[in-house]
Amino acid sequence: MDLRISDIISDSIVDGPGLRLTVFLQGCIHNCKGCHNPETHNLDGGIIVSAEYILEKFFENPLLDGITFSGGEPLLQPEPVAFIAEKVKEKGFNVIIYTGFVWEKIIEKKDDFIGVLKYTDILIDGPFIEELKSYDLDFKGSANQRAIDVSKSLFYNKIVLWKY
Ligand code: SF4
Repeated sequence: MDLRISDIISDSIVDGPGLRLTVFLQGCIHNCKGCHNPETHNLDGGIIVSAEYILEKFFENPLLDGITFSGGEPLLQPEPVAFIAEKVKEKGFNVIIYTGFVWEKIIEKKDDFIGVLKYTDILIDGPFIEELKSYDLDFKGSANQRAIDVSKSLFYNKIVLWKY
């Protein structure tokens, strides 16, 4: 299974707790003003790699705590993201997704995204809003974004924020 990516960082400490492999998916439709990764917007840009390649990169580093999918918009490629997330979770690591969609919209299309959500621990939702930008927000770019505990939110059928 293939996915279109912009970049991979193999030792990130800013995209979630601990040391993480961060995969920047290529392609985004949100066009947030002040976006830090405009090179990830082109839906036909970046490079195509296999999900197995990402898994190899992940498992070759024994120091990692988990994987983060950022972008770009990871939820435009839900199948390969779910495939990788499942394999990573199976081995006891955690999974974080950054998305420009808000949780309420994702849940409206739950059937399209349940494969991804099943294997995601934390979903950081919502567009980047430049006016709400802050450097004091752990792992988030702007104050509107929420770090959502996915399994609890699905279970209780309401947003439960992830606790640090
Ligand atoms: S969702 Fe992320 S990548 Fe897409 S435009 Fe907004 S900040 Fe940029």
